[in-house]
Amino acid sequence: MTRTILHVDMDAFYTSVEERDHPEYRGKPVIVGADPKEGRGRGVVAAASYEARRFGVRSAMPISRAWRACPQGIYLRGSMEKYAEVSSRIMDILGGYTDLVEPLSIDEAFLDVSAICLPERGRALAAEVKENIWKTEELRASIGVAPNKFLAKIASDLEKPDGLVVVPPGGELEFLRDLPIERLWGVGPKTAEPLLRGGFRRISDLWRLSASDPRMASIGLLGKHGEHLLLLARGIDDRPVAPNQEPKSIGHETTFEEDIEDLERVRKTLLSLSDAVAVRLRKHDLDGKTVTLKFRDENFVSETRAHTLSDPVADGASIFDAAIGLLDRIRWKGRKIRLLGVSVSSLSNAGEVRQLSLFDRPEKVVKNEKLGRARDALEARFGKGAISRASQLAAPGPGPPSQSFGGSAEARRAEAEGPHPPRAGSEGSEPSEERGEH
Ligand SMILES: [Mg+2]
Repeated sequence: MTRTILHVDMDAFYTSVEERDHPEYRGKPVIVGADPKEGRGRGVVAAASYEARRFGVRSAMPISRAWRACPQGIYLRGSMEKYAEVSSRIMDILGGYTDLVEPLSIDEAFLDVSAICLPERGRALAAEVKENIWKTEELRASIGVAPNKFLAKIASDLEKPDGLVVVPPGGELEFLRDLPIERLWGVGPKTAEPLLRGGFRRISDLWRLSASDPRMASIGLLGKHGEHLLLLARGIDDRPVAPNQEPKSIGHETTFEEDIEDLERVRKTLLSLSDAVAVRLRKHDLDGKTVTLKFRDENFVSETRAHTLSDPVADGASIFDAAIGLLDRIRWKGRKIRLLGVSVSSLSNAGEVRQLSLFDRPEKVVKNEKLGRARDALEARFGKGAISRASQLAAPGPGPPSQSFGGSAEARRAEAEGPHPPRAGSEGSEPSEERGEH
């Protein structure tokens, strides 16, 4: 059966929300991210308006570089809470069309509309979705319509902003023919390099390759990944739109204003990061068994250590205990710390696990989790910071990490591929969630 998939992607989402709420910013270069501190700031750009992009400002770029490129820009810290609210209203609009909505990030989603719309009606439906988002939120979206996710995702990006590109069934190869290979899903600058060297510039250049071609190894297209890319190059992608994908890991990280070496500050930071992770685990009704500590020193040398517990946890104290244990396994004496992160993976649905092992789980863990839930409920009623741990009260540390702007897919890719670019916003930890895609 021919499917009709929409990829809906909001245009310059964070900055567009700011421009909507502050008409005085419109037409100016708006940058959401860390405090630039007149070029001395240490975080990164979370989002740049189209006007700011004309100065060369991009998301995931160090904020200090953005400042040099565009000192006249309007620099905003942004509000993750506000963006998340707008996002959930937009997802509600999308959910009005079909249950098959798969959010990819805060501002993009796939919709499988095969059941409600014939392929030839795809353009009209996409136009209606765009109009609906505009009327309700005064924000512009770009939409790609195609027989699969891969093509829809490329299509939504081709005529941004306010774009609407349709790839009709049967038009897959024609659509892909002249696109540069960097457009292939999963091809970043690193993957592209050997391909370009091998003379494969356009997606159609890959059509003459078969999976058994001896050149596959020399151009870096080994194994399953290579085979998958060849299929994508021919416009073949059978992955279903999967609504409500659970995150694979939940984490928070923070970049310090200045590199630190003081153990007490390290402990306080790990405690507040652990608490922040626990809050989000409980919010998703998840718990997890593997705790990972991310460490980066003043020379951008990164190390991670992971430990898998015997039972899943969702409380800050247990996560903190594991994180401190992991820190002992890093030789950081004599090094200064630039960044710390804590994440929990091997996630499971908390309800199921609780039912199965209510009586087997260590009493302390169950108790901590109950306390955590009570705290979540109080904070939901009386606001963040309504309750603090005794240790936080005793000596004010860096404070509980606030949810600042999230890591965009771009930022994550830059992190994975780049030579350790500076990362998190400097004013709090930022949440990170890994999902199936990318
Ligand atoms: Mg977007």
